[in-house]
Order: sequence, then structure tokens, then C-alpha cells
Amino acid sequence: MTPRDPLDRLLDSFAARLGAEAVVRDAGRLHVYAGDGSPMHDALPRAVVFPRDTADVAAIVRACADARVPFVARGAGTGLSGGATALDGGIVLALNRMDRVLAVDPVDRTATLEPGVRNLAVSEAAAEHGLFYAPDPSSQAVCTVGGNVAHNSGGPHTLKHGVTVNHVLGLTLVQPDGHVVRVGDGACGYDLLALLTGSEGTLGIVTEVTVRLLRRPETVVTLLAAFDSIEAASEATSAVIAAGIVPAALEMLDAEVVTALRAAFGFEFPGGAQALLLVECDGVLPGMDEELADVSTLLREHGALSLRAAHDDAERAEIWTARKKAFGALGRIARHYYTQDGVIPRTRLPEMLRRVREVAARRGLRVANVFHAGDGNLHPCILFDSDDDKTKRNVLEAGAEILRHCVELGGSLTGEHGVGVEKREWMSTLYAPDDLAVMARLRDALDPSGLCNPKKVLPLGAGCGELSALGRRAAL
Ligand SMILES: Cc1cc2nc3c(=O)[nH]c(=O)nc-3n(C[C@H](O)[C@H](O)[C@H](O)COP(=O)(O)OP(=O)(O)OC[C@H]3O[C@@H](n4cnc5c(N)ncnc54)[C@H](O)[C@@H]3O)c2cc1C
Repeated sequence: MTPRDPLDRLLDSFAARLGAEAVVRDAGRLHVYAGDGSPMHDALPRAVVFPRDTADVAAIVRACADARVPFVARGAGTGLSGGATALDGGIVLALNRMDRVLAVDPVDRTATLEPGVRNLAVSEAAAEHGLFYAPDPSSQAVCTVGGNVAHNSGGPHTLKHGVTVNHVLGLTLVQPDGHVVRVGDGACGYDLLALLTGSEGTLGIVTEVTVRLLRRPETVVTLLAAFDSIEAASEATSAVIAAGIVPAALEMLDAEVVTALRAAFGFEFPGGAQALLLVECDGVLPGMDEELADVSTLLREHGALSLRAAHDDAERAEIWTARKKAFGALGRIARHYYTQDGVIPRTRLPEMLRRVREVAARRGLRVANVFHAGDGNLHPCILFDSDDDKTKRNVLEAGAEILRHCVELGGSLTGEHGVGVEKREWMSTLYAPDDLAVMARLRDALDPSGLCNPKKVLPLGAGCGELSALGRRAAL
């Protein structure tokens, strides 16, 4: 009899606890868990396990720690930066079976959720109480609240309501050694909730989240404005914010996206439309007409060719469909697209979009832009058709160049897709070695074995070990 591989024995023990169907080991099925929506960062896990509750997660993590097997949490796998992929022969803990809405409290206006609950399901559960959950990633129909916490996700309505960290009240965490802790819930002391939100699954696995719910606004008005250039639409964006108006959402789509939407779904836009701006205002009824009039005037003054207003849910859904189908439309005009995620000060939008065009032209690539203009969060989508390494390298380098421009213009490397594997090496363009060393020391303190989602977020170039050594030296 051949001796069993230690990992096989570990997986057998998981199967005994969870049931054989909850442990995936065959290569064909493992491919489903190799990527996270990006065509660039696939890595095949050794196995995928499906825990049912916090106790299961704690037991699996403890066993992995004892056996020195790396592990990574996974929600819906829509992160796009390679964050949910298993490196170093690790296993994936897929949290999709932990998908119960545990409680909705309409009096306290909170919801308590398992991590695998879909983002949209939170607002659906809260709707009967006239409440909603504000962070609304465009992937909200599938992405999970665990992934949202790990990426500190936002969405079109982030502009007014803030990102996930502004709405998480407490959470339960399985630490990298398997211990379970509860953080937040109004406690004083260090703000561990803020530390964990956005930590990309590198400091433990979130197994329960309590979030704040907001009352649904009394009234919502959505406008779709067409412009003859992206520059005009960018100027209009700045003008609205400079006037002291904070719309609930301010989203932009460029000419490439407009063309793709026309071709794919037959959307009708005015003839000369080279850019679309979607503006949504919400609030109480008195004052809304005035706000709408002010926004409309500003958009016209800055060159809007046409304005279309939606006043009810059906009309609004029609306008949002154009925004939400943008990525689908791009998928029809190119075999692959690589979506970048950078942040710049809003006032630098025209300059940044010009630089994006220059990068694309110099490298012979097509780029489409669909993004959260209000908070300067860009998503240049680089379109490409070939699978060859040369093309992929060109696309990756274009993405890196675009992000370098974001940093140069005073922005940041990611607004919502995380650092993951993709941007890990670029962190040193944004942070000084001492700053990175503090992060590395923090990570060392919370995950001394380095098994929890290894090789993500912090650069390997300088060597994570070297960085933490640098941190330790700084502490002496
Ligand atoms: C078409 C499209 C549109 C998008 N639009 C937006 C947008 O508008 N706003 C936005 O913010 N993002 C957007 N994203 C990115 C992505 O959907 C979000 O970042 C989302 O929050 C990821 O959730 P997920 O469940 O898919 O996480 P995954 O991709 O599964 O995981 C992401 C990271 O979170 C970690 N993680 C997952 N669950 C847990 C857990 N329970 N505990 C600890 N760590 C965990 C993983 O290890 C990984 O590092 C978009 C993606 C796509 C494909």
C-alpha cells in the first residue's frame, strides 16, 4: 500500500467533518476556483473546501496551521486582482455555503450576515422594512459581503454613502491560528474593524458581519446626460461637486462603451454622444426639484447635448441598465478585457483620461472607460483578442503604466478591486519602505506563520521577510 500524502490525509479529515461532497480535489473542478474574473492571475488550488459555519472554518484553519498548509478565503471570486487565488500549493476555503441572513433588526437598522451572503441579498432582505444596504458594487448580484469587507468595496453609490468600512459595525474573525474573535460592536481601544476591513483576507477569515442599514430615500431622480467629449463630461463632473452638490452617484461611460452598448443591446443615445454621465440624486422630496434643476443647469452649461430624466423605478432601471451592461457589451467586442482600477483626484480626470489614451495608442491597444467619476475611481478596460504571451505582457505593462500615471497625479493604486497579486509589486511606488515595513510587522504579528493568503498585498520584490526585518530593525 502506498503511503498517503500528508495533504491527502488532511483533506480526508476535512471530508470526514464536512462530507465528501464538500471537499473538491479533482483537477477539472479545481479550475473553476483558479481565477477571480481577471484573465491574468490564475493559480490552481490543491483543493477547495466548503465549511458550513464558524466552527468548521476554525477547525480547518487550525488543521492547516498545524500541517503548515497555506489557505485562502473565497467568496464569489469576482475580485479581479488575484486575491482569492491559492498560491504556494494552498487550499481554498469557499464560503458559499455560509450564505444565511442571520438577522435583520429594523429598529437598530442592522443586519447580521454570514460571509457568503450576496451583496444584493442584503438590500433585498432589508427592503420590507424600507431599508437598504448602501455599498453596492456593480458585481452586487453575485459578490459576497465577506469579499466586500476584505476589499472594502464601494460602488456607484459610494460617492454619497461611503464604502464598506463606513457601514460595518462588527465582525467575527477566525484568526490565522484558528482562534475566533469578535471585533467592533462599538468597542473602544484600537479600531480593529477598520484594520480588518480592506485587509484582503490576509489577517484571518471573516465568518460573520454586522452591517448598518439605511432608510430608503424618500425620492430618487436619475439623469442621463450625453456629451460630445469625455473632457466635457469630466468638467461637468467637477462642476457639480464644486457647486456643493453631492449626488448619490456620478458614473461615466466613454465613446468606446457607448459604441459597444449600441452594437450589443441596441441602446439609443443622441447621435454625437462621445461620453455619457449618469447622475443620481436622492433625499427628501422638498428640495429635490431645486437640486435637479441646479444639476441640469450645470450639465447644460458644461456642454450636455441632451438630458434624460427618470422619475420612477422602471425609467431608472432603464438608465442603469446601460451602466450595468457596459462590461457585458465590452465582452461582445473583444475576447478578453483586462480591467484596471485606479484612483485620481477628480479634478485630474481630463488629464488622466488623455494619458490613458496615449498609453493605449503607443502600445496599439484599445481601451474603454466605464467608471465612478464622482470619486475619481477609474476602470480603464484594455480590450484584446489574442492569448499569446506577448500580447498579455503588452496589456499588463499598459495597466502598470496607467497606474503609475494615477500615482503621479496624486491618486492611488486601487479604489475597490484590491491589491491582491496584481498590484503587490507596485505598492512601493506609493509607499516608502518604512511605511511598508509597518504593514509587514502588523501582518507578522497577526499571522506569524505566513500561511493566511500568502504573497498578496505586500511586495515580494523587496521581500516580505526583508520588509518585516526592516520593521523589526526599526523597532529596536
Ligand atoms: C463586473 C465587475 C464589476 C465590479 N464592480 C465593483 C464595484 O463597483 N465596486 C467594488 O468595490 N468592486 C467591484 N468589483 C470587484 C469585486 O466584485 C469586489 O471587490 C467584491 O467585493 C469581491 O467580492 P467576492 O465575494 O467576489 O470576493 P472574492 O473575489 O472571492 O475575494 C476577494 C478577496 O477577499 C478575500 N475574502 C473573500 N471572502 C473573505 C472572507 N469571508 N474573509 C476574509 N477574506 C475574504 C479573498 O481572500 C480575496 O482576497 C467588480 C468586479 C466585477 C467582475
